[in-house]
Amino acid sequence: MNLNHPVTYIKGVSVARAELLYTELGVRTCNDLLYLFPFRYIDKTQFYTIKELSQNTAEVQVVGKITSVKEVKQKRGSRLVATFSDATGSIDLVWFKGAKWIKDSLKTDVPYVIYGKLNWYNNVANMPHPEMETVKEYKSKLQTSMQPVYPSTEKLSNKGISNKVLRGFIQNLFQQVFGQIEESLPTYLIDENQLLGKKDSLLNIHFPKSQELLAKAQYRLKFEELFFIQLQLLQKKLIRKSKIKGYVFEKVGEEFTNFYKNNLPFELTNAQKRVLKEIRKDIGSGAHMNRLLQGDVGSGKTIVALLTMLIAIDNGYQATIMAPTEILATQHYHGIVELLEGTTIKVELLTGSSKIKKRREIHTGLENGSVHILIGTHAILEDKVQFKNLGISIIDEQHRFGVAQRSKLWEKNPITAISEEKGKAVREKYLETHPSEYKLLKEIALKRKNKTTKEERALWEVLSTKKNTFKFRRYYIIDEFMVDFICLEKKLIVEVDGKYHVTPEQIEAANLRTTILNEFGYQIIRLSEKEIIEDLESVISKLETSLKNLPSVRVDKSVPPHVLVMTATPIPRTLAMSVYGDLDISVIDELPPGRKEIKTVHRYDSNRLSVFKFLKDEINKGRQAYVVYPLIQESEAMDYKDLMDGYESIVRDFPSPKYQISIVHGQMKPADKEYEMNRFVKGETQIMVATTVIEVGVNVPNASVMVIESAERFGLSQLHQLRGRVGRGAEQSYCILLSSFKLSSDSKTRLQTMVETTDGFKIAEVDLKLRGPGNIMGTQQSGVLNLKIADVVKDGAILHKARQTASRVLEEDATISKPKNASLLKVYSQIQKKNGLWSNIS
Ligand code: ADP
Ligand code: MG
Repeated sequence: MNLNHPVTYIKGVSVARAELLYTELGVRTCNDLLYLFPFRYIDKTQFYTIKELSQNTAEVQVVGKITSVKEVKQKRGSRLVATFSDATGSIDLVWFKGAKWIKDSLKTDVPYVIYGKLNWYNNVANMPHPEMETVKEYKSKLQTSMQPVYPSTEKLSNKGISNKVLRGFIQNLFQQVFGQIEESLPTYLIDENQLLGKKDSLLNIHFPKSQELLAKAQYRLKFEELFFIQLQLLQKKLIRKSKIKGYVFEKVGEEFTNFYKNNLPFELTNAQKRVLKEIRKDIGSGAHMNRLLQGDVGSGKTIVALLTMLIAIDNGYQATIMAPTEILATQHYHGIVELLEGTTIKVELLTGSSKIKKRREIHTGLENGSVHILIGTHAILEDKVQFKNLGISIIDEQHRFGVAQRSKLWEKNPITAISEEKGKAVREKYLETHPSEYKLLKEIALKRKNKTTKEERALWEVLSTKKNTFKFRRYYIIDEFMVDFICLEKKLIVEVDGKYHVTPEQIEAANLRTTILNEFGYQIIRLSEKEIIEDLESVISKLETSLKNLPSVRVDKSVPPHVLVMTATPIPRTLAMSVYGDLDISVIDELPPGRKEIKTVHRYDSNRLSVFKFLKDEINKGRQAYVVYPLIQESEAMDYKDLMDGYESIVRDFPSPKYQISIVHGQMKPADKEYEMNRFVKGETQIMVATTVIEVGVNVPNASVMVIESAERFGLSQLHQLRGRVGRGAEQSYCILLSSFKLSSDSKTRLQTMVETTDGFKIAEVDLKLRGPGNIMGTQQSGVLNLKIADVVKDGAILHKARQTASRVLEEDATISKPKNASLLKVYSQIQKKNGLWSNIS
């Protein structure tokens, strides 16, 4: 028997019980059971008398005898009640399930040890489903003051798999396999870190011999768990650095230098300079950059992003910034266009509300390289957006994007592009021999409809589900031609002939296109819309046959753009190490000079009048203010009403024409939002009433007051983000948190933290403690939530040690192949087989 065998190999585990262990606890193999750790320990050496039992005793152990047993009929089945007595009194033991067989097994006049939780009813205690053993049994075992308690479920205890039974399984397991437990860490690491051996650790975590050994066992197992995660993350980083090629931006050229000399409106802070240096080192190295830039709100990440993009442009590449909201993207766009005034750099904005004509123009500009910088929202991720040569992708406020979305940015460049010379030669040849068809071809390409047709969509739906047998991409650029679908391994293009394939001239042009693509080395299958609609199935099977008959070619990986993700939501160090462990991390830990610390106060709703008075004073000094309302999905209608009521009362208190008020919320059309935003940015309005749509990134330096209504309903990081909207100019800024009187203790902590500090990292630490890692962005993918014993919040010190150790191991032995690391390699490959956990981009 070995540890990979199913638990049915363990004495006492039937097939039915094994099934339960699997469905209820996810335990399938012996090894799984070995790693089912107790979550606490109880003292089995201590006894209560019945007289001593009180409402305060949680779980108790009592010695006594059963004096009577009766079955009580109830609605369904019956319940079994046994009277259990010692010299001082008696209580009822109750079974709601399995009355019949329990009744048969209970003996009167035999002393029992019972253990369980008490139920109090009218000041009388009973004990449902007690654990029982005869005193004889009890004495035959070694009893400890640290008896393990395992995770359980109602179903398990109802089906008779009590904690005692589970413990029995594990005891048997140890007897059967103890000899086979292998040490997973090399001796030198065990010695260096003074760790308890593996066998002893597992034994003591289940059956501690002493408090001290338990602590050592826990430490060792936590260390090991974190160590292997770090080993994996760090090795992945090493591989990324050595294997994934990145564009080399070797020079800092004219655009960068000119901008730095002439357009930079301020001196960079030291932190900005340092981060820029870190980035430059990456992008000049030939390796691929995947870097997280953390910097508190207002620390000046945008300018770092822009300078980085200029380096890309200096080296002949394009750049893009993706922002989570339209407001933010638009603001980046205007800001950057303004900064780049007087240069020849072409910047475009692409969002969900870009007009079709504009979109088409942008698409073409990106494909032929005439657009240098693209700023936008999710719209950038659409397949139709393809670049000629995207050198860097910057993602602002990355926590707002999912992993899948972010990784799409890796695939924006052509893969097996035809070399420029070859493309040009072929095109020129046909331009000469087929001038009119060629011209028409170009026109059609320009008119290419922006919307995907329903036939294309239907086909894509099927093709994309088959991507395990053959992978198609859509809207792919070959030289200057964008094709509908392509399977790169087979060099097969599939095109759907739509409304530009009707007239003889158009058909001629399409044929020319086929000829050219053939000459580039691609097969083309042209489908009519009709056949797709009428018989998609046979279209697909036809395609499948063609694919089968074509030889496979090796597809060179495209060079992915460098990736810089920026976040103003600081992630506590310990968590960053686990979640973003394979990214490089840069931190801007310094605010631009001249900023005054924002003064933050907490006031109750009843103080609103004086708050408004204060607002008025500030506005009369020429400042602007935000008043923010929560808008939380579930109660949207009510929140919306609060917002509108609030808006009206502000309009009453701040009458026009002296005061002008803007309002922005999620239900407005983007154009209206932008209009209102703009009025505020230009200083035409003094108060901005808004929901959290303004949370991210918006920059109005003259705004100096942030009033947050119902502040108790916001999360800490949100409050911090909102506060970051002010304090961007030279004036003293204020943040006023309004709340009701009724506050939960968490709300109190949140508001108090906000009042006490403006340090984003401190705030993030508190947030992590309050909410646990599960709610922090990025943790879901990272696996830190599946930890069996370690806790990223509490075990920061162990994590640190584990990371250092892993880093040292890899420094000496990057491939983990030295003999002294043999035991590591073994575990490591098992882990890797099990989970393709971390995707390329985090
Ligand atoms: P965030 O990091 O929150 O994105 P921004 O990039 O929006 O911050 O910068 C906040 C404000 O600080 C902007 O108005 C920007 O022009 C200004 N700023 C950035 N860097 C500096 C600097 N080194 N000196 C002075 N002002 C700066
Ligand atoms: Mg920003």
